[in-house]
Amino acid sequence: MEVADRVIIGAGIFGLYFALECAKRNQSVVVLEYEDEAFTRASYVNQSRIHNGYHYPRSLATAAKTASYFDRFVHDFEFCIRAPYKNIYATSDHFSWVNSAQFYKFCQSLKLPVREIDPGLYLQEGKCDGAFETMEYSFDTLKLKSYFLEQLGKFTNCRILYGCRIDTIQKSHPDYLIEMASGIKISTGFVLNASYASLNQVLKLADLPSFDVKYELCEIILCQVSPTLREVGITLMDGPFFSLIPFGQSQFHALSSVAYTPHKASNTTLPEFDCQPGTNCSPIQLQNCNQCPNKPTTHWPAMHQHVKKYLRADFDLAYVSSLFAVKAILQGAEMDDARPTVIQKHSDTPNFYSVLSGKINTIYDLDELI
Ligand SMILES: Cc1cc2nc3c(=O)[nH]c(=O)nc-3n(C[C@H](O)[C@H](O)[C@H](O)COP(=O)(O)OP(=O)(O)OC[C@H]3O[C@@H](n4cnc5c(N)ncnc54)[C@H](O)[C@@H]3O)c2cc1C
Repeated sequence: MEVADRVIIGAGIFGLYFALECAKRNQSVVVLEYEDEAFTRASYVNQSRIHNGYHYPRSLATAAKTASYFDRFVHDFEFCIRAPYKNIYATSDHFSWVNSAQFYKFCQSLKLPVREIDPGLYLQEGKCDGAFETMEYSFDTLKLKSYFLEQLGKFTNCRILYGCRIDTIQKSHPDYLIEMASGIKISTGFVLNASYASLNQVLKLADLPSFDVKYELCEIILCQVSPTLREVGITLMDGPFFSLIPFGQSQFHALSSVAYTPHKASNTTLPEFDCQPGTNCSPIQLQNCNQCPNKPTTHWPAMHQHVKKYLRADFDLAYVSSLFAVKAILQGAEMDDARPTVIQKHSDTPNFYSVLSGKINTIYDLDELI
């Protein structure tokens, strides 16, 4: 039986950030990952926006938290930042929770850099009551993955086990005993559950109470934009609108929309979707949606039409591909669109923690556990 100071379940950015920080402190670390690779779920399939607060005028807590980590994240992961592009936030004239005056005031209250521009530079006349140039970047998810794997590779006290099938997680004082289908057994006094959309599935294995979450099966569309939009990101606020921002350092933009990005939702404790029957995916263990024979048909036609209603007529987009992942959102967050990162302690001596992450740059919230 192997003994480890820290066992981390999930090799997304939250799991690998924590693994690296622990390894640097000479702790023995084992990361258990279900897939054959790191960063195949939400840490890869996301819009790649490094949030600086602008997106959350209705949740000051989320805005302030992401803004507080913005500079640190950009500094620490400079190599994967997309060279600055014009990042535009515009407020829709209709159906928006926030108008341009409120958005401007909100930015000022958080001291977020903001410069008012003519909405007609990018959007159709009469569709928006304001537009602003802001300071936000996108990051390259694959470069981030390579960085973490390379750094972790330098530590002999950390190993990542891929293709893990955890059978049981049992408290056997003073440790947790984790047994895998492969026969591997690990004993540890500290478990971090960083499995995001599978959070409750792992908690069930450990017989611990679940989080109250909503699951959404989401589609991020990668597309090519007109040459004049290549160095531009546009986010239309604040309601059933869209975001179109450069996808890290790739040649594509990532398109998402409030109405069309979520294909399906599940409000049950364990994620239940009508596409699961007939596949390996189940409420007990989510699989990777990108490799699923039942993955949804793209919402590109609807999203494209939606965006065309707002973008200036001389700009256009061409579909390239779709990425799918299940998003986990705290129940109740819809009220103000909050995306908190929640760290929950389930057990003391031995320790068992879970992290439900809201935004990528809140990885630093994990520092409190190091
Ligand atoms: C569509 C979408 C768009 C988003 N856009 C943004 C954005 O623009 N900016 C931003 O900051 N945030 C964004 N987010 C949120 C962000 O992506 C997540 O907060 C973050 O990536 C979660 O990282 P993680 O490491 O917790 O989870 P993940 O990257 O999902 O990693 C969890 C890992 O756990 C593994 N796992 C699951 N079950 C088990 C098991 N039983 N045993 C072992 N391993 C297991 C999974 O295979 C996976 O590798 C977005 C999320 C989605 C889904």
